[in-house]
Amino acid sequence: MDAFALVPPEWTKSAVHAVDFCCPNCKTEPVKAKKVWLNRRSPVSIGIRRKYQEFYLCECDTAWWGWSDDRPPSKDDK
Ligand SMILES: [Zn+2]
Repeated sequence: MDAFALVPPEWTKSAVHAVDFCCPNCKTEPVKAKKVWLNRRSPVSIGIRRKYQEFYLCECDTAWWGWSDDRPPSKDDK
């Protein structure tokens, strides 16, 4: 599985926007997602920063996405 593939995977087509950056169905965090795809082809510029869509396929088979700058810092960061 290539998270940086240029062609959007089939499962991203049904993804819904999750504003709180976790699965809108079961609230599972993206680190536990079965699949990830980053839409680096279409970044959106905000001043000097750029954000892009991150797609996740949850363990419960719900596909969702969030903006990269909405992602909370990982709890695993030490
Ligand atoms: Zn879920």
